[in-house]
Amino acid sequence: MMPPPLALAGGRVMDPARGFDRVADVLIIDGCIAAVGQGLGYPDGARVIDVAGCVVAPGFVDLHCHLREPGQDHKETLRSGLAAAAAGGFTTVCCMPNTVPPLDVPERVRLVRERAAAVSPVCLHVIAAISAGQQGARLAPLRELATAGAVPFSDDGRPVWNATVMREALRTAASLGLPLSVHEEDPQLAAGGVMNAGATAARLGLRGLPAAAEEAMIARDLALLAAEGGRLHIAHVSTRGAVALLRDARTRGLAVSAEATPHHLTLTEDLVARPWNGRPYDTRTKVNPPLRTPADVAALVAGLADGTIATIATDHAPHAAADKRCPYEEAAFGISLFETALASVLSLVQGGHLGLAALIERLTSGPARLFGLDVGTLAPGARADVTVFDPDAQWTVRAASFLSRGHNTPLDGATVRGRVVLTLAGGREAYRQPTVLQG
Ligand SMILES: [Zn+2]
Repeated sequence: MMPPPLALAGGRVMDPARGFDRVADVLIIDGCIAAVGQGLGYPDGARVIDVAGCVVAPGFVDLHCHLREPGQDHKETLRSGLAAAAAGGFTTVCCMPNTVPPLDVPERVRLVRERAAAVSPVCLHVIAAISAGQQGARLAPLRELATAGAVPFSDDGRPVWNATVMREALRTAASLGLPLSVHEEDPQLAAGGVMNAGATAARLGLRGLPAAAEEAMIARDLALLAAEGGRLHIAHVSTRGAVALLRDARTRGLAVSAEATPHHLTLTEDLVARPWNGRPYDTRTKVNPPLRTPADVAALVAGLADGTIATIATDHAPHAAADKRCPYEEAAFGISLFETALASVLSLVQGGHLGLAALIERLTSGPARLFGLDVGTLAPGARADVTVFDPDAQWTVRAASFLSRGHNTPLDGATVRGRVVLTLAGGREAYRQPTVLQG
């Protein structure tokens, strides 16, 4: 049964897909956007929520997260992960296939989609494996995976090390009209690395992950893309050289897109050297690709602003506490991102690096277009995926109170600005910030 008609009254409605930006009401009926404008008449029985002072945006779309189900329920479940997504303003998320076992057969793709639909109104899309078992040695059944609803394919967590398999994957995915999302890392150059290669790593005595490991693999895949056609989406770009490669490839007309994460857009490697948990470094910063240098961050932000990087993706990667309370070398790669993503990237607007409309575009219609998802706008008739946020609300990150089972973030205890107050997915209330929004 659908909830009664709902009106979000008096917010700043921003819908970059339509160039819409003004104070207006949004009327939602039967799970869809019925009207957007000023002085709308409300139907009888409508619930009205005053959102004056807030931004009303299309629900955010995340092309990259890890929800750990099946197989690692102690880190996250579909229920907890999708609840955390809603708390972060995300109404459509794409989960990576590196579960246990991996999502490399159609039955498992169907199962995860069905289970997600049963536990949350947030829309889940499954990214299926490129190679069988994500081992990189031979292709997974991409055609059957696509029939089961996979959009698109990725071996994320690791690169497709075998160039012949990568070439075959590009050809097959192209014939299916789907892109490949790739984790770019040369396995030999990256072997054993745990943080960005450089002076900080040397000082801490930690093995480095060089920028060249990422850039060499991107260069290989751009060469394969130029030769074979298809569409390539580069996951979590993290280096200045990678942004330069992308910009050049796009200038040459190659069908390549890219995402950057909130942490790579805002944090640098010096955070690794902050003492934590009785050790001279902070394992909460351990992530792959690693946090890089200020020059890398500046290049990513410029790439996001000029559209070289078309979307912000979270790479939400939850882990259990024990996975981080250990030496840096042994700690798991990954940060819980959903619930801090918006505040992190709003700092780019506050810093004058890009406008709020452009930022919202990179969180909504931008990613939707890349994976061909029919969401990301508040146009009348669209599914009512809506995120309401207060861009000025200051709050302190308390990882222990995350809805995600993964409580790991280097932002724990930090005061940030910008907070999601209400998330509607298909017209249903998926999240409401209890202390901010009344009514
Ligand atoms: Zn990855």
